Amino acid sequence: MRTYSDKKKVDNMGAIEPQLLSAFYSLPWGLSICYPVTNFANEIIDFSFLYVNQMFSSTVKVKKDDLQGRNLSEFVPGFEKSDLFNSCCKAFFEGKPQLFRSVKLKELLKNNSWEGYTNISISACRNGITLCFQDVSDHYLTLEQLERSNKELEQFAYSVSHDLQEPLRMISNFAKKISKQYEGKIDEKADQYIGFMIDAAKRMQHLINDLLQYARVTTSAQPLVQTDLNGIIDRVMSDLSLSIEEEKAQINYGKLPEINADPTQIQQLFQNLISNAIKFRREIDPAITIEAKKENSEWLFAVHDNGIGISPEYYDRIFIVFQRLHEREKYSGTGIGLAICKKIVERHGGRIWVESEKGRGSSFFFSIRE
Ligand code: ADP
Repeated sequence: MRTYSDKKKVDNMGAIEPQLLSAFYSLPWGLSICYPVTNFANEIIDFSFLYVNQMFSSTVKVKKDDLQGRNLSEFVPGFEKSDLFNSCCKAFFEGKPQLFRSVKLKELLKNNSWEGYTNISISACRNGITLCFQDVSDHYLTLEQLERSNKELEQFAYSVSHDLQEPLRMISNFAKKISKQYEGKIDEKADQYIGFMIDAAKRMQHLINDLLQYARVTTSAQPLVQTDLNGIIDRVMSDLSLSIEEEKAQINYGKLPEINADPTQIQQLFQNLISNAIKFRREIDPAITIEAKKENSEWLFAVHDNGIGISPEYYDRIFIVFQRLHEREKYSGTGIGLAICKKIVERHGGRIWVESEKGRGSSFFFSIRE
């Protein structure tokens, strides 16, 4: 165990200038200055409040005078063995700021019934530490509400698309029956209208299937596991072999890493990007390159193609559900592929974006947390 004497020991914490002191007391964040409490062997066993400001006292719901001079262990049960104590020591000895996000104070402090959340940051200051409590309840509760309403929306989209399938199947089947029985028997217009009906039903079936697929990114998510991307790409190549052959596509990639991922989703991600790279080709043979490199604590992937490219004004729009830049007749699809890619990447703690030159090709980039 490291002892207090490892850091320059002084008898007192020093005085705070009056102006700084008034700023300290009126800060909108709960701030306290604590000094280490040592045992006979000069080992740190606790921290004690030297100064606390008004906001600190109202956040923890204890009067200022009842805090100053008292030890943290009196308010935090099991403090000596807690992560909070270890982080206080770490900040004190190593000078590295420590952060705890969205802590429910009720669960941290004795006799505290407040339902709110705070970020706790700890930094070293002259011969002691500062403990800063920042109320993030509004932010945290908004996030919670947003997550809940997103889940409800996804569930709603899933149920609606699921329940729409049956009536649509009826429409489609009866339209086909009418066509079979009455084609050429009424008049040309009737044949044409029946044809429109069958096509529309088919299109709607595709849209519903895609919506279901989109909702399933959340509803059928599997845990993230160590996944060898070389095996994943082999499977994608085999699934796309027909269109690779038909379009004479060249796909280049080196050895790919192992990442923490949902294997089915990551396969779908690569499949959507590569099949788009083949589909949105120019008159020359598609040449596609897949790259991966490590950047800090994430993997950065790129899928480059030499296809038709995308104008910068559409860089964001193409990731939105059912947004397409072309007529159905020119390129097949419903416009859900990239929205699914975005959802998958975000579920893996990453981002996805595109860079492109119209008429020369596009590069789709995405990051995945290590
Ligand atoms: P879909 O392929 O069904 O149209 P996506 O969501 O996969 O839907 O793509 C949305 C739109 O983004 C496409 O309609 C196309 O206009 C554009 N796009 C996607 N990938 C590429 C690409 N590699 N090159 C050029 N345009 C692309």
